[in-house]
Amino acid sequence: MLGTKIGIDLGTTSIIANVDGKGIKINEPSVIVYDTFDEKVKAIGSEAYKMLGKTPDSLTAVCPIRDGYIFDYDALEQMMCYFIQKICGNRIFKPNIVACVPSKTNDIEKVTVTDLLISSGAARACVIEEPLAAALGAGVSMKDPEGHLIVDIGGGTTDIAVITRGCVSISDSVDIAGNTFDDDICRFTRRERDTIIGNITAEKVKKQVGAAKFLDAELAVRAVGKDYITKFPKSIELTSTDIFLCIREHLEKITDSVKYLLSRTQPELVADIIKNGMIITGGGANIRGIDDYFRDKFGFNVYCADLPECCVANGLGVVLDDIKILEENGYVFRSYADMNDFEV
Ligand code: ADP
Ligand code: MG
Repeated sequence: MLGTKIGIDLGTTSIIANVDGKGIKINEPSVIVYDTFDEKVKAIGSEAYKMLGKTPDSLTAVCPIRDGYIFDYDALEQMMCYFIQKICGNRIFKPNIVACVPSKTNDIEKVTVTDLLISSGAARACVIEEPLAAALGAGVSMKDPEGHLIVDIGGGTTDIAVITRGCVSISDSVDIAGNTFDDDICRFTRRERDTIIGNITAEKVKKQVGAAKFLDAELAVRAVGKDYITKFPKSIELTSTDIFLCIREHLEKITDSVKYLLSRTQPELVADIIKNGMIITGGGANIRGIDDYFRDKFGFNVYCADLPECCVANGLGVVLDDIKILEENGYVFRSYADMNDFEV
């Protein structure tokens, strides 16, 4: 296969690109900023993220992927052109891309995404399921005949899947993830502290002191917003306990979804899961004590993957090392020549 091989995780929060032999070369927020009047692109990725929540009327910030869906294909294509160009420059051979798309993308949309990658500069493109890549990135082998339970807590969705022999046996996706936690932290400060804080601040607080249990040594951080009544600037203290109380009911719902998925999983695979445990990936796995929370709920081993937000991209790296295995498992690369063929 000529041309660089690139794995791209199209996440709600970040776009992460893993280049074969070179590792992760792009890890930038999934944001693009346009001029409101002439719709020219003003910033993409990290630069655009700095403007989020602060754009004047003349600029519009767009997050093309939200709540597990691709909302804006044009914006995504502009982002892909930019990132592919950033990685490949003016190389003669176009790259081959394996991408992961949000879990709610259906088969027709997957074809649209592969075609979008081709129009953005790929020679050939293929899409694989996100939980499969997350499992590979967390160390599960593509050939492992045993069942593994993966819970990927991202920005827009939590994806739950049972993986076996390099395939997704059963999966589900719930709209409760990092962004839900941030929204609830904002709601909490308004309700309990009469203070309005922005989502970016809420996310920072979550990362600094977020916990899924009562910590022995409580953590605290100050956050700045404005008073709900007077609208004057106001600084408040938020603790790990506050964050736990905010997110507890959401973790409960994720627990119920995992239980429901297990209730529909084949008994032999469930037996494997009890033995192998559950793996948490995605940025949400960084929340302090989240493994303890789920271990208490399920009674079997639960562990967080290393560098959880990079598991999908690292899993794509595993696939790039042995690209034949994709074809053996039924995944098909599309090229420019296939673009007018809409058969799925
Ligand atoms: P996606 O795949 O949807 O792009 P990620 O797997 O990158 O999402 O996870 C992003 C989510 O993880 C965001 O909501 C972010 O706030 C959250 N996150 C990242 N780091 C931490 C952390 N240290 N503590 C709590 N949440 C975190
Ligand atoms: Mg993800």
